[in-house]
Amino acid sequence: MRRARAFDWPEVLDRLGRLYGRGDWRVPYLRDHAEDPFQVLIGTILSQRTRDEATDAASARLFARFPDPGSLARAPPKEIEPLIRATGFYRTKAKRLPEVARAVLDRFDGEVPNDLEALLTLPGVGPKTANCVIVFGYGEPGMPVDTHVHRIANRLGLVRTTSPEETEAALRRTVPKEFWIPLNPVLVQHGQNLCRPIRPKCAECPIAEFCATGVALSSGRAPPRDEDAPPRTTHRARVHRPAMALRRRRGRTGRVA
Ligand code: SF4
Repeated sequence: MRRARAFDWPEVLDRLGRLYGRGDWRVPYLRDHAEDPFQVLIGTILSQRTRDEATDAASARLFARFPDPGSLARAPPKEIEPLIRATGFYRTKAKRLPEVARAVLDRFDGEVPNDLEALLTLPGVGPKTANCVIVFGYGEPGMPVDTHVHRIANRLGLVRTTSPEETEAALRRTVPKEFWIPLNPVLVQHGQNLCRPIRPKCAECPIAEFCATGVALSSGRAPPRDEDAPPRTTHRARVHRPAMALRRRRGRTGRVA
């Protein structure tokens, strides 16, 4: 029975790098503000439940008016709302962002901490956002796990988890630290292109031989995640398909041709 090859991070990253190019894979709201951990923090909060293009535009508008903790802490939510209207839950975010800025000012002297535990005490900051600040704001190893990373890590067979939080903990235990920084942008890129949420394009995937799902599907076996299994022919379809064919052949006369 064919099994996936032992997972080889340098080889996997090399193959994905050749497929997607070796440039900077960060989306603009992370790339353009990477020198400034505060803007990475605010951009990542804006990105929650929002498409990347909307986050990019909203971040650019917001930071043109309120670029730092001091200005954003004083900004009235009604002035923030039109700048970030394209993002999901923009009214809630318009209230939340000055709270975050005030917390950074009051509790951390205006410097966003580069420590996971401290970041998680900020309002509206969960594990993914905190890890994004570590990786994209400070260029240090972190493990931001979004839906792409969670799904692909399970498809690859690297983890067997039911939530991004569990996936983060499992990947921290198993992935060598030298691969933590590229892991998120590479897998997000893969998740937006070939390894999509529904019907991944395994036949075109350059890392299929390392992937438990790719190997299982190509060998007719069940993949690790039930939802990746090919649709089954239902009992009803099996029973009724011959009957339908017979009806078609009978035609209007009711006789079999
Ligand atoms: S083989 Fe399929 S499931 Fe596995 S990483 Fe590639 S696209 Fe995703």
